[in-house]
Amino acid sequence: MDYTKLAELLFPDIKTTPEDMEKRYPRRELPEGAVVTRFAPSPTGFVHFGGLFPSTVGERMAHLSGGVFYLRIEDTDAKREVEGAAEGLIKTLATYGVSFDEGAILDESGKISDKGAYGPYKQSLRREIYQTFAKALVKAGKAYPVFTTEEELQDLQSVNKKEELKNTNWEEEAVAKREAMLKAREISFEETEENIKAGNPFVLRILADGDGERKVKITDLVKGALELPENDEDFVLLKSDGIPTYHFAHAVDDHLMGTTHVIRGEEWLPSLPKHLQLFRYLGFKLPKYMHISQIMKLDENGNKKKLSKRDMGANMDDYTEMGYTPEAVCEYVMTLLNSNYEEWHMQNPDKHYKEFPFSAKKMSVSGCLFDYNKLDDVSKNVLSRMTAEDITKKVTQWALSFDPEFGALLERDSEYAAKIFAIGRGGKKPRKDLATLKDARGYMGFFYDELFKIEDEYPEGFDKADVKKTLEAFLESYDESDDMNAWFDKIKAIADSLGFASDMKAYKAEPEKFRGNVADISMFIRVAVTGKMNAPDLYTVMQILGKARVEDRIKKMIKAL
Ligand code: GLU
Repeated sequence: MDYTKLAELLFPDIKTTPEDMEKRYPRRELPEGAVVTRFAPSPTGFVHFGGLFPSTVGERMAHLSGGVFYLRIEDTDAKREVEGAAEGLIKTLATYGVSFDEGAILDESGKISDKGAYGPYKQSLRREIYQTFAKALVKAGKAYPVFTTEEELQDLQSVNKKEELKNTNWEEEAVAKREAMLKAREISFEETEENIKAGNPFVLRILADGDGERKVKITDLVKGALELPENDEDFVLLKSDGIPTYHFAHAVDDHLMGTTHVIRGEEWLPSLPKHLQLFRYLGFKLPKYMHISQIMKLDENGNKKKLSKRDMGANMDDYTEMGYTPEAVCEYVMTLLNSNYEEWHMQNPDKHYKEFPFSAKKMSVSGCLFDYNKLDDVSKNVLSRMTAEDITKKVTQWALSFDPEFGALLERDSEYAAKIFAIGRGGKKPRKDLATLKDARGYMGFFYDELFKIEDEYPEGFDKADVKKTLEAFLESYDESDDMNAWFDKIKAIADSLGFASDMKAYKAEPEKFRGNVADISMFIRVAVTGKMNAPDLYTVMQILGKARVEDRIKKMIKAL
């Protein structure tokens, strides 16, 4: 067969050659060791937590090595494309610290455009490039067309045929498929010509030269040394509409765009032999591969299962709604990626996570477990380190979107809110009351009369009369201008007057001599003023609430008793 003639017949409009493409996209001049990598999502919906993972790895590896991180939009499946998904994706990733140097970007009007010399970065705009390499493969006798007539297409789509296919035994089917594949390879030039004249569509398949019984060796930077079966399948390179499959686009794009590291989900690992074959056929240098494990979660029965797109926490927008800040999510991702992150962070509490020496070698081979408790821990630390002004802003913003009633209260007097948030903040051991921005309402709602209610009852075993006497005595002696010591001395005096120990040591030595101790007295007052058994430092709380509110609440409690 004259392959040059065949190539002309199949791709008459393609005048460019692989050499032209190499010239159009020269090799990048970068320092030794610089990682060039990409995030290559299909714009089919929201950003999944499982997508933040590889993109963070790519961003870290490129930027820590002085390399390039770019975004390529893999929109070869028009049927699955969701309008606006690519735009949303860029914005969401930026929120989570994943910034690109090159590739598809949002221009000022919010539309996707290109930045960089290796574009277009949207696969749907790279037809000519793929077809140039497809034509070259045909010319080299390494790819061939498989035609389908209109009737065959309709037959395939018919309900009966689908049922028929479903009912066949898979072993028989595999044999039949293989036979059909080998037969298809034998198409003659004349047959091809007839089909083209008849306007029949074709897919272009690779002519596989592998043997499925033999193994090929490759080292993955996450999974380690691997042995995979050689590819013996004539997989599709171009679909009948001339659009490439993932495999073909991956080889052509990552080669021309100068990718040094292909970082992607482990679901692509079984396809790797196909890619090895393609790179060899095309004469491209093989990039390094990193196949990232999937994120697992525990189901109700404690079994590990894949974090699915429908799970809460799969969509990155869920985190916003749940009140996790991007900083917290990013740090949590770091803890999942490198188990020594936390130790490093403890030693370098003031450093940004981007200063952490991330290492691909420390990534988990088998998959990380998504754990809300851990995320809460990380988030508590992140929120506790913020200044009062920052956290006030963050909570207000969050609440205005997701809890407008509370948002309005915060916004009404942001100085008052900041005073509340300042309690126990700053210093070496800040309070860690909030795991999420959403927790703020429960934590501090009592500072607002609109939200204040008695949430906790006085515990059993205390005499209501003691509570009442305490509150009356406190009301009588309360002076807002007392400093903390004077204030506490008064509480101790109340304790002594009611037969409660004001000295904890004395109480511990002989508890039976007292009706209780000064902590109980404080608790009687705390529940009246805050409605809760647990609240931040009561003196400070009263200072913020102000005399009128404190007295009013105590009076109400006395009445209620
Ligand atoms: N479009 C592919 C995906 O979303 C990209 C995989 C890759 O990074 O090569 O899974």
